[in-house]
Formats: sequence, C-alpha cells, structure tokens
Amino acid sequence: MNIKFILPALLEAKNPFWRPIKYSLFPPLGLATLAAYCSEQDDIELVDEHVEALSTEDYPDLVIIQVYITNAFRAYAIADSYRKKGVYVCLGGLHVSSLPEEAAAHADSIFIGPGEDTFPRFLADFRKRAPQKIYINQERTIQDIPPIRRDLIKRSLYLVPNSIVVTRGCPHHCDFCYKDAFFEGGKSFYTQRTDAALAEIDRLPGRHLYFLDDHLLGNQKFASSLFEGMSGMGRVFQGASTVDAILRSNLIEKAAAAGLRSVFIGFETLSQGNLLQSNKKQNLNKTYSEAIRKLHDLGIMINGSFVFGLDEDDKDVFKQTVDWGIENGLTTSTYHILTPYPGTRLYKQMEADGRLLHKNWSLYDTRQVVYKTKGLSAAELKNGYDWAYRSFYSWSNVLKASLQHSETELKLKHFAYAGGWKKFEPLWNFMIKTRGLNQMLPLLESILSRNKKGNQGDGRSPFPAIA
Ligand code: SF4
Repeated sequence: MNIKFILPALLEAKNPFWRPIKYSLFPPLGLATLAAYCSEQDDIELVDEHVEALSTEDYPDLVIIQVYITNAFRAYAIADSYRKKGVYVCLGGLHVSSLPEEAAAHADSIFIGPGEDTFPRFLADFRKRAPQKIYINQERTIQDIPPIRRDLIKRSLYLVPNSIVVTRGCPHHCDFCYKDAFFEGGKSFYTQRTDAALAEIDRLPGRHLYFLDDHLLGNQKFASSLFEGMSGMGRVFQGASTVDAILRSNLIEKAAAAGLRSVFIGFETLSQGNLLQSNKKQNLNKTYSEAIRKLHDLGIMINGSFVFGLDEDDKDVFKQTVDWGIENGLTTSTYHILTPYPGTRLYKQMEADGRLLHKNWSLYDTRQVVYKTKGLSAAELKNGYDWAYRSFYSWSNVLKASLQHSETELKLKHFAYAGGWKKFEPLWNFMIKTRGLNQMLPLLESILSRNKKGNQGDGRSPFPAIA
C-alpha cells in the first residue's frame, strides 16, 4: 500500500516576517511515530512542507495529514484536493482534537487525541476495507510503541534532527494550554519505559539531543532514572521544565550531570494575579530568581517563555519583562501574545464573554491580537510585543544579559548563542536554500565549549539551546 504522511506548512510561510529557520528546526516526529505502525510492505513517503515542496499530483492509497491551528486551512485544502481525486484522507493532530466537526468536513477519517492507539486501529480497519469516520483515543500508553521510523526523516534539512519525545502531555493544567483539550477524557501525562527511552537515545547518531517533551522533569521517578541511565553516554541535550520542578529535589542536578545544557521555562508572567487567572499554580509564589541561580550555577542556559495580554497587564509590562530577562541573564526569550486556542478553558471563557474577535485560525499564531483586550488596547499589545523582541535581542542587551553570568565561559556561550540565533538571518536562509542546514551543527557545537560544572562528556563541544 502507498501511504503518504504530510505536515502542511503554515500559511504564514509566505509572510515576509516569517523566519524559515524557525520552521526548519525539528523533523515531523509525530508522523514518523505513526509510520512505525505501517507494515514493512507498505511504501511510505513523509513530506514536511516547511522544508520541501509538496506535490499533490500523485495517487497514494492513503494520505495522513497532521493539522495544527495555523496550518489548518492549508491542511484542509490539501485534503480536499486529494479527496476530489478519490484518495482516502485522514486528519489528526491538535486542531482536529479541538474542533473535530470542522476537520471531519475535510476528511474520510479523523483521529481524536494521541495517535498511538487510534492509528493502528484505523490501519487494521482500512486493510479490511471497513474504516470508521472517527477514531477516538481510548488507551493512553507509550510503554510499547515501536521504534520511530527515523529513516523517513530527511536529516540534512533540519538543524536539530535528533529531536526526541519520551513522555506525553504534562501534569499541570494551565488555562491557555492546548494540552488538556488534546488529552481530554483520560490520562494527560504518561511516560515511556526508561529502557525503551534509553534505547531510542542510543539509536540517535552524534551527541546532541533535543527533548520536545512538554515537561521533561514532570515525572520525578522516570526523569531520575532516565538521567541516571544517560550519564556516561556523553550526550548533551536540551529540554523543558517548570520552575517548581527545578526548585524541588536534586533532579535538575541529575539532569545537568547527564548533559542538560539549556532549558525552556514557561515563566509566562511576573504577575501573581495573572498566574492565578491562568491557573498556573505551579509558578505561584515560586522564586523565579532562585531557580535561575540554580540553573546558572549548573551551567545551564535558559530560554524563558512569556505571555503578554493577560488581564492584569498594563503598558509597563513589556519593559518590565524585558528588563527582568536581561537582569536575570536569560539567554533567549520567547514572547507570545495571549492566544485563546479552541478547546482550552481560556477559549471557552473568552467565547462566553464575547471577547473573540474572529476565528481565522491562520492568525492564531501568538503574534496577533485575536481577542478583546482589557488592560491594554490591541495596538498597545501588538506594538509592545514587537518592541519586546527588538529590545531583548538588540546587540547591547544581548551583551548586557550575557555579562550577568559570573563565569566567563557562560558569558561567551550566552553571547554566541543569542547573537547567532537572532542576528544571522541571511546565513540561516542561505544554508536552508542550499539544503545544508545540518552542516551548521558542528559550527554551533564549536561555539559552545564544554561546561566545567555540567556533564564532562567526552571532551567534544556541546550544542546550545534553541529558542
Ligand atoms: S506547564 Fe506548560 S505544558 Fe504544562 S499545562 Fe502549563 S503551559 Fe501546558
């Protein structure tokens, strides 16, 4: 059987402000995970439209499309064109789980929730010529998933081909997060077996890994045994955590010893009122600066994530947030305009309050204001957001933030990484156009020397965080 897996590109790929490098970081791991359930006799193609051209002239037996909010309209157009030719099309992913009725109009079958049990059930039905219209996830486990079909991934097109996910979901329940909509009706956080996760790591070439888990430190027992198993592997890696997991116990020390070099943290806001409003309890009354000090002492760089536009925000929030990030030596900052994703509690509340401006999903990209604001006007919010990025990544502020570290090594790593990530766009674009992006990996590795306090590895240089 000929099966084609497609990750459609965002509509914004044609927008002049689009940064190609941002969408050439990670391969479509979710689709490669599903591909592992196909049989050896199946002829499989995996196309990621962010990094390669998609042709819809062909006639596969089956097309599987992953849909997220900003690529939804493009995904539907691709699905419609294949269905018009009589090709069987399935849609799955976050947006399909949030708005199944909308997606079902463009598909022969849809998958709701995680695909590890829906996709094999569908495949069995499809082979018997009796597929159903809707498959809803019933079993939440990744204990025995087959090895990801990484052979389908065109590694040279990605800066970070070694991305990996060893858990699903997150133990927390923030109001603006998509996660609860996707995992509705069952467990919303579960892990692989440690030995299976270590075996997956072992299969990846090179040293660098990027864990795309929502909260790598979310299950203390699992994370602890994972890091113990990784020590001595000579890996360097990046991942995400919450402030409370960093402050709690010695898990972060174990992560550092195993090779953690940078961590993504959702600080979200400096306002306790906003945290309360967002149900971000795990951050409430936690000392951000203490977590930051702990990470920097371990030689771990920080990518802080922040949301603007929560109801307590006023005109001062942008400068306060940028200044705070610089003073605390954050290597990179990711800013977002609050976005009510369908299926979240935030969305339901805003819809009930009549605050949604429209449902043009292509604009739900966290860079546009799509709801009626309270403490700020829409223009103030958008302008403040744009200003925050410009200000945080000005050369003078990159330098100022890097000088906050006490160790010279960390100062240099910080400056090289933040500058390299945000200030060399033409070079990134050139490497993407010449299809040699992964050749940048050794260069980036060489920018960052081994950290004395972290994992000593095998003496080769580590790779930095990606924000
Ligand atoms: S901690 Fe992060 S991943 Fe977890 S629910 Fe909150 S926003 Fe989502």
